[in-house]
Amino acid sequence: MSDNTIRIGNVEITAVADAAGLTAPCNLMFPSIEATAWHAHKEFLSDDGSSMNLSITSYLVRSAGKTIIIDTGIGAKDRPFFPNGRLPDALAEIGVSPESIDVVANTHMHIDHVGWHTTLRGEAYVPTFPKSKHLFNKDEWEYFTDPEVANAGGNTYILDCVLPLRDAADIELVGAEYRVTDEITLLPTPGHTPAHQSFIISSAGETGIIWGDICHHPAQVTELWSPVFDMDPPLAQKTREKVVQRIEEEKMRLVAGHFPLPGFGNIVRVDGKRYWRAG
Ligand SMILES: [Zn+2]
Repeated sequence: MSDNTIRIGNVEITAVADAAGLTAPCNLMFPSIEATAWHAHKEFLSDDGSSMNLSITSYLVRSAGKTIIIDTGIGAKDRPFFPNGRLPDALAEIGVSPESIDVVANTHMHIDHVGWHTTLRGEAYVPTFPKSKHLFNKDEWEYFTDPEVANAGGNTYILDCVLPLRDAADIELVGAEYRVTDEITLLPTPGHTPAHQSFIISSAGETGIIWGDICHHPAQVTELWSPVFDMDPPLAQKTREKVVQRIEEEKMRLVAGHFPLPGFGNIVRVDGKRYWRAG
């Protein structure tokens, strides 16, 4: 297995980079946090300490005979301020065709998690994974596809990444009780978005979590800071605290798509504080 693949019991998870090596100014993502508070987390900052290192990673999950993609990255729609991602090329490099994906799912419906749900072909946005079932959390779908929300300034990616699926793809709107497979269940982790969800892997006595944007940066595992993108910061912070504690207590494998590639690791305690440790 390459460094980009882990197993949790019988479930295989491969990190597939849509966009790697990105940076974002710390004071833009976390305006209320003093620059000095970042000093303890230099390992995951740019050389001058002013910017966070970031990745946009999708996860290819193989479980119970199904091939699943969780989060589809930023896409390649030439948007201002965002890089173009390369998920389909990255999948091709490991021998995975778009047609072989059975299920596309996402932790939430922000721009960097539904980007490759569609691809522009000629004049039309078509499903990138044409034979796939597309799973969405029902409450998240209802919020983001509301015309008033979808047409608002920062949300118009919904118009080209999500709405074209309505007539062209197999969509299933699901609640927290849904099982993706017998080994993969959903955990409501709201706050970053109204119905942000995480994927709990439980197989052959091992457990893990694919946690979307509960934290964007390893420093948050220790500090529990909320970034500007949290839609409900107090709720996001409560969720973050609860999930970080559970991961530590249950010794779950953590899969974090915005952390340095491949985003696999654990939460460990050093001198009374929690830290993310890659591995
Ligand atoms: Zn994100």
